[in-house]
Amino acid sequence: MTTVPQASRHLDFDDYSLEDIEIPITPKKTNGIDENMVPKVGLEFETEEDAYMFYKAYAEKAGFGIRRSKMHKGNCGEILDRVFVCACEGKRASDKRDDDVKQHRPETRFGCKAKLGVSSRSNEKYRIYKFISEHSHDLVSPSKSHFLRSHRSLNDIQRFQIDMAQSSARKQFTGTQFKLSIFWFCN
Ligand SMILES: [Zn+2]
Repeated sequence: MTTVPQASRHLDFDDYSLEDIEIPITPKKTNGIDENMVPKVGLEFETEEDAYMFYKAYAEKAGFGIRRSKMHKGNCGEILDRVFVCACEGKRASDKRDDDVKQHRPETRFGCKAKLGVSSRSNEKYRIYKFISEHSHDLVSPSKSHFLRSHRSLNDIQRFQIDMAQSSARKQFTGTQFKLSIFWFCN
């Protein structure tokens, strides 16, 4: 009787080490944002600009604008630390000219406390030492966030101007357009 060679052999679990088993990793999502994009205390960046771009990418996904705020410089002019804030941080300064203005610009600063702080004081890299994710205002839809000042390009400005011109021609704002007009002036 001929024995047919077996094409495969039975493998016990012990034949594999954990390194051999590839498990597809799907990044977790926080509010629809890949967890890899969400800032975490302890993350490090080579430069202050890298940290800014990382927070900017997150902000665009989350639906808010950002700007650079406080920083300290070293003796050679290098940036030691930096705080990036939500574009709606702070309050509009009271201005005497306001009394003469018939139509005020909509209030765009809501005293928002959302921010990201990085510091290179402990080593060469810029390490996140503070991250506040909560906002004191509504966020815009990710599909509209390119209208925000820190995320828009020249084409976006032109698109927005056209959009606003059409809006005023219709003499009415939709809710979304009104919200965009508020965020447009955030700085
Ligand atoms: Zn905010």
